[in-house]
Amino acid sequence: MILGDLQTIREELSIRDIWEARKRIVSIVNKTPLIQSFVLSEKAGRPVYLKLENVHDIGAFKVRGAANKILSLSEDEKKKGVATFSTGNHGMAVAYVAKSLGINAVVCISNRVPEAKLESLRRLNAQIEIYGHSQDDAEEYCYHLAEKKGLTIIPPFDDPHIIAGQGTIGLEIVEDVPHVTDVIVPLSGGGLLSGIGLALKSIDPNIRVIGVSAEHAPVMYESLKARKAVKIEERDTLADSLLGGIGMDNQYTLQMVGQYTDDILLISEEEIAYSMAFMMDKHHMIIEGAAATGVAAVLENKLPRHDGAIVIVISGHNVDLSVLFQLIQRYNDLSH
Ligand SMILES: *Cc1c(COP(=O)(O)O)cnc(C)c1O
Repeated sequence: MILGDLQTIREELSIRDIWEARKRIVSIVNKTPLIQSFVLSEKAGRPVYLKLENVHDIGAFKVRGAANKILSLSEDEKKKGVATFSTGNHGMAVAYVAKSLGINAVVCISNRVPEAKLESLRRLNAQIEIYGHSQDDAEEYCYHLAEKKGLTIIPPFDDPHIIAGQGTIGLEIVEDVPHVTDVIVPLSGGGLLSGIGLALKSIDPNIRVIGVSAEHAPVMYESLKARKAVKIEERDTLADSLLGGIGMDNQYTLQMVGQYTDDILLISEEEIAYSMAFMMDKHHMIIEGAAATGVAAVLENKLPRHDGAIVIVISGHNVDLSVLFQLIQRYNDLSH
């Protein structure tokens, strides 16, 4: 355990919450496939499995947490609607769940958000509010608007319902690969790892949970080292879904990630790019940079040597065609 006393979190959140989340979200979220990767098993010299969170309608696992949170709201809260300021996978997940339930969703964005992102949010019937020139402006406006209109803000990671929702992945992994020894989880704000870690360590504390972050966005890694939430200067990364701070008043995920991770690996841009290209070439699978960090951990032999079965959480597939095009050209040139 890295930080302080987890007693209060334990009282608020246990594996029961994840079981309940699983029952709650069945109407919206399907169990995802878990497949063995023969190419990666060969590379690793031990069985490697992929938990395919890229197959959700919105192309990422975040629909689990969003569904658990929104379905837990009171009838009155549902009637008033929900809000978010994320334009990434979390924003898509909130809009998707709200649409499925016939709830109004407001997404606050700055005027710098590209048109392609707006279009996918509009397709999900989200009500878009454009304000200011930065993500921070949009966030501030979102809180203001939520207060005025009685909307509920759906947080991206630091929330018990979100964490429990993401934790349902842990239950599914153990069902499908009961002999799993290592689970590799992409790590940013830590909702995904907190939930999966809680599930796995409650079932078997010997299962190793390994977080993977981009070298260009190591905010959870640095916060754990400092034993408190820190701000860091982020650089552009192919793993754009791993960008963003952990919140200076982080309540849950910093402590939970500190308790549940056995190791955190930082992955370079070159390794992420190669892993995305590898997955296209050898698996014929498109995955986004955030998900490729887990593949890189195996391809670059960054795990301690054991014989047990590895599961990599393939967290999503939302990547622009122009990025894929560049990757293909680069690796095509290299191989000729
Ligand atoms: C959000 C996200 C992550 C990281 O999840 P956290 O809960 O913020 O740690 C990883 N991969 C993808 C594709 C994501 O959208």
